[in-house]
Amino acid sequence: MARVFNFSAGPAMLPESVLHRAAEEMLDYKGSGMSVMEMSHRSKVYDQLHNEAVDLLRTLLAIPNNYKILFLQGGGTAQFAMVPLNLMTSRRKAGYISTGSWSKKALKEAKKYGQVEVLASSEDKVFNYIPSWPQDLAGRDLDYIHITTNNTIEGTHYSRIPETGTIPLVSDMSSSFLSEPVDVAKYGLIYAGAQKNVAPAGVTVAIVREDLLGHALDITPTYLDYKVHADENSLYNTPPCYCIYIAKLVFEWIRDLGGLAAMEKLNRKKAALLYQALDRSKMFRATVCKAEDRSLMNVPFVTDSDDLNKKFLAEADKAGLVTLKGHRSVGGMRASIYNAMPLEGVEKLVSFIQDFERRNS
Ligand SMILES: *Cc1c(COP(=O)(O)O)cnc(C)c1O
Repeated sequence: MARVFNFSAGPAMLPESVLHRAAEEMLDYKGSGMSVMEMSHRSKVYDQLHNEAVDLLRTLLAIPNNYKILFLQGGGTAQFAMVPLNLMTSRRKAGYISTGSWSKKALKEAKKYGQVEVLASSEDKVFNYIPSWPQDLAGRDLDYIHITTNNTIEGTHYSRIPETGTIPLVSDMSSSFLSEPVDVAKYGLIYAGAQKNVAPAGVTVAIVREDLLGHALDITPTYLDYKVHADENSLYNTPPCYCIYIAKLVFEWIRDLGGLAAMEKLNRKKAALLYQALDRSKMFRATVCKAEDRSLMNVPFVTDSDDLNKKFLAEADKAGLVTLKGHRSVGGMRASIYNAMPLEGVEKLVSFIQDFERRNS
């Protein structure tokens, strides 16, 4: 069996032990004689798994009791509509911080349902930094403020969580979810598509403060009302059972590693190794310069030559370092080093970068 180091931005690597466990349990989950894929979501055995997943996540993130944990479908993209439909309902106005392609998609969608104020943006420098936080928020007439904690395409990340006073803070954490501890109480709502750090594509986690439920616009489709899912423990309709099962295995894997503090420590170690190599190189450079804005999960980097970029990608692929091509908007390379990327994968990439530079300069 030849496993590669897969640097894909998503769907991305899953921990090998999780894949093995899923394989072992594929045909007969806990003596049920069937796979979780084939199982009724109303069965006792599924119900137990579902609730274990919820409880594990609550413990991992230390989620306070006044927050509901929801397992939804439609990816981060469906959340771009669900957030305004449910929350942009009193003043019909929300603030968005524009830090990349995903933020722009989120705010564009929100404009369909109300007024969007772009409070800050880093578009002037192709989103390669996190803009400073607007100072005059107190008393502003906003239903919520939306940020993208980790910008998957551009490789930036908030190192400090901004204060929003009484205005609920909403975060798209799709690409940094469970990579570090989070003070959930600072947020009104957190959402994350699973395929970056948690599970296969198909489940989206939302963590919603209870007082924000039940105010959806009248036009809100039933499926897109958070309260409908909160009232039924994400079992209003058929949930993505198999994805939730894999998510549960991933939650257990993080717990057994020592939880999110240990996860963050490992992620910092991996990211430091890669950024140091890029900063020391004369051929390669990271596109995000400011150390505190650098993502621990997505590391875009370039050379000054398209031909060298191409050659690097082709040779890396042959060496088992795959899916390193950068997003078309940034170009060059991007190494996504999510939780499941082993330290060994980053070490191998760093040696490859150094060796490539020696051979080509
Ligand atoms: C991947 C991603 C999305 C979109 O997720 P889908 O599941 O494809 O809808 C949204 N936001 C961020 C930050 C992402 O990384």
